[in-house]
Amino acid sequence: MKSDKIVLSGMRPTGKLHLGNFHGALKNWVALQDKYNCYFFVADLHSLTTAYDHTENLAANSEAMLIDGLTAGLDPQKCTIFIQSDVPQVSELNTLLGMITPLGWLLRNPTYKEQIQELLKQKYAGQLDEKSLGEKLSSIAGDEDISSFGFLGYPVLMATDILIQQAAYVPVGKDQTAHLEIARDLARRFAEVYGEQVFTEPEPLYTNVARVPGIDGRKMSKSYHNTITLGEDIDSVRKKVMAMFTDPNKKKANDPANPEGCVVFAFHQIYNPNAAKRCEECKAGAIGCVACKKELFALMEPELKAFSERRKTFENDKAQLDKIVAEGRERAAANAAKTLAAVKKTMRLVK
Ligand code: SF4
Repeated sequence: MKSDKIVLSGMRPTGKLHLGNFHGALKNWVALQDKYNCYFFVADLHSLTTAYDHTENLAANSEAMLIDGLTAGLDPQKCTIFIQSDVPQVSELNTLLGMITPLGWLLRNPTYKEQIQELLKQKYAGQLDEKSLGEKLSSIAGDEDISSFGFLGYPVLMATDILIQQAAYVPVGKDQTAHLEIARDLARRFAEVYGEQVFTEPEPLYTNVARVPGIDGRKMSKSYHNTITLGEDIDSVRKKVMAMFTDPNKKKANDPANPEGCVVFAFHQIYNPNAAKRCEECKAGAIGCVACKKELFALMEPELKAFSERRKTFENDKAQLDKIVAEGRERAAANAAKTLAAVKKTMRLVK
């Protein structure tokens, strides 16, 4: 039976989603909508915390993400799908929570420095060698233009997203619980300061999702130019599969190899029900990489083609998309308004 507990999750709009987003998050969202009262959102305000000066495609990217979500199986009859900036209560609560957030919490936030490092790595990818990049990273003293007020405060915005919808659960990987801590801490701090518990303290909802590497073996990310995009031209996908990173020690087709670290094998684990057999064949040198890649592509092709076809039906029905966005906005705003009213009353902003 479906629980009435609220689950909340969001994703920054970076345009069409890639297979890393699909297998790493979206498929899980689709499964969760049958089990909980889910709120899924396009985190466009979060994009501004790091890319405030690159907004030229922001609205189009939000729409592309929505279309991918719907194509993947998110069903507006089963869950609430909305765009973060469409719900003004989010920005209002973010301001109020910002007032009670100690600066030290944000500066000590372990993900703050990690994020800065990750962003700089992406920014200078391909431009700096490893040594120069290391020097650059160690010289960071907050003078990079990414260290904005909004960026420092992104954990408060993230907490706001969770608390305003009264989410009981937030899907996270085992290594991401730090993201939730600030939401839990803020819920408690609010109760301490104002004497009333208004927010639900969110719990992590641990999920085992597939980790999908990029075609070069690094994390799949647009900034590394190593993605396979949902809806991508199928010939382009074929070329990318054939160019995937494999075990570099395997020179000839019948050399034994190590599938660990081979991108092709990582994909076989997702698409091939006989991946365990492939693992043995690879170790025994019973298959060459070219044949292995061709087989992988044959396994991926039907799913990707079907996705592209389904995607077109949403792309071509703007009226339906607008209706879904409007309904999502209405539901998310109505739920958020209840929380905000209780917050303002408790803070004595209203009588
Ligand atoms: S045979 Fe397949 S799994 Fe083994 S290294 Fe080559 S591509 Fe990877």
